[in-house]
Amino acid sequence: MDTRGRVGRDIPPGVDQNQWQFRIVPANDELLSTYLVRRAHCQGLSPHRFMERGLPGVQIWNRDIDSSLSAPVSARIAQYCNLAEQDVKAMTLYDLVGFDSPASPDWLLYQSWINAVGIYHRLRRRFGLQYCPLCLQAQPVFQRAWRLAFVFCCPEHGVFLRNCCPSCGTAVMPHRARIDMTRCWKCGALLSGGTVVESTAVPVALETQRLMMRCIEDDEISLGSTNVARSEYLCAAVTVLRVVKEHMHSHPSLWSFDVPIDAVHAQVKFLGMPERLSLFTMLLEVMDDWPANFLHFSSVAGITQIAFGRRRNVPQWMNEVVAQLPARLRSRTGAMEANFVRYVRRLENEGGTKCRALRAQALMLAAKGKYGN
Ligand SMILES: [Zn+2]
Ligand SMILES: [Zn+2]
Repeated sequence: MDTRGRVGRDIPPGVDQNQWQFRIVPANDELLSTYLVRRAHCQGLSPHRFMERGLPGVQIWNRDIDSSLSAPVSARIAQYCNLAEQDVKAMTLYDLVGFDSPASPDWLLYQSWINAVGIYHRLRRRFGLQYCPLCLQAQPVFQRAWRLAFVFCCPEHGVFLRNCCPSCGTAVMPHRARIDMTRCWKCGALLSGGTVVESTAVPVALETQRLMMRCIEDDEISLGSTNVARSEYLCAAVTVLRVVKEHMHSHPSLWSFDVPIDAVHAQVKFLGMPERLSLFTMLLEVMDDWPANFLHFSSVAGITQIAFGRRRNVPQWMNEVVAQLPARLRSRTGAMEANFVRYVRRLENEGGTKCRALRAQALMLAAKGKYGN
């Protein structure tokens, strides 16, 4: 600063940073990464420069610090930002679900339901950070709950969350915004801009979201006629959702659920909002009236015990229900079909100029239910 109180480029580095320190109180449910962005902007610095000054050499923006912040880094951030260590931890995602550190074994389970942001250096390749345009318009704060895979709407405004810039469709990356994180880092458009579309699907989505929020809010969750511990319910629900997802296309009666076939083997945290909404709605239906709906779904979709693997970590009450499923399905192929498969394989092994024509002819006949060969 010169004698006239101006700060300019000619000021030598090494300014006492403590003179710059002031305290900004985190907002309710604010996400740590976006708090740091807000803090940096308040000091007129880019988020990268701000963290480089206070925590030189510590990797921040090429990590998902909201879900993986370690205790030593948390302590340093607290000191740097004039906050209590508890305040920093209260902005992380593991704190949102009641864990002290990301090293907690059950945190891995929850992470499968935290939307992936697709860290690639300092870029984000996935659309895991959602936001409510109306909340963001009212207050420049990103909420922790917006990262949850089973959060689709804003309960306050009754609108679906967005996950990209309304103008250019780029993923939201507040840490790349130089001045204002409520604007798209790429095209500069206001994230809250554009038309906020009201949808008739909001009430259903909000109800699904409300029921799923029990997984982070309640200590006990009602299941059928009993209550079970939250960790047990979560463990069972994660397993059931995986199996349900893999069997969604097993029966025509399940095709009404809007989950494309290529999403079957992707993890929930990588899926888009319509697929996640369909899956969590279906999960709640399957878990409802436990175990009647679960057994009915399993029977319709042809789910056997094999689908659940070794079930080492699954709670006992779920193990007992899975044990009621058939150990394996009987082979669906009869003698004629088995002969037909052998015939086609023989054709393929023998090869020759007519191989493909003969195989096509056999397949055409088989499609009409004729297995002669
Ligand atoms: Zn809102
Ligand atoms: Zn944009």
